[in-house]
Amino acid sequence: MDSCLFCKITKHELPSKAVYEDDRVYAFQDIHPQAPVHVLICPKKHIATLNDVGAEDAPLLAYMFDVARKIADQSGVAQKGYRAVINVNADAGQTVFHLHLHVIGGRKLSWSGD
Ligand code: 5GP
Ligand code: ZN
Repeated sequence: MDSCLFCKITKHELPSKAVYEDDRVYAFQDIHPQAPVHVLICPKKHIATLNDVGAEDAPLLAYMFDVARKIADQSGVAQKGYRAVINVNADAGQTVFHLHLHVIGGRKLSWSGD
C-alpha cells in the first residue's frame, strides 16, 4: 500500500519514535498522545481494519496483544492499569486505515463509550 501512512512509518520511510520492532510488528509513540503512555503497535503487513483480519492472521493478532502486554510492563503501567484498544471504522473514530493497537496508560482513564 504505497499511499498508507502506517506502511510508510513501519518501513521507516517517515520518521517516528520507536518503542519496539521485530519482523512482524513495529511499535511507536503516538504523535498526539492521549495519556502519558500512548503507543501504537502496527503489524508490518498491511491490513486496513480489524474487519479485514482473516483467520490466518489470528496468530498475528494474538502476538500484537503479547507485545502490548510487554510494552505496558516496560512502561510501568501494567499494574496500575492501561487500555489496549483497536478502533474500527467511522463510529469508533478510526482515522488511519492500517490496523493498529493503541496502548494507553499513565493516568486514570474514563469509560463512557464516547
Ligand atoms: P485511530 O483513530 O485510527 O485509531 O488512531 C490513529 C492514531 O494515529 C491517532 O492516535 C493519531 O494521533 C496517530 N497518528 C496519526 N498520524 C500519525 C503520525 O504521522 N505519526 C504518529 N506517530 N502517529 C500518528
Ligand atoms: Zn498500511
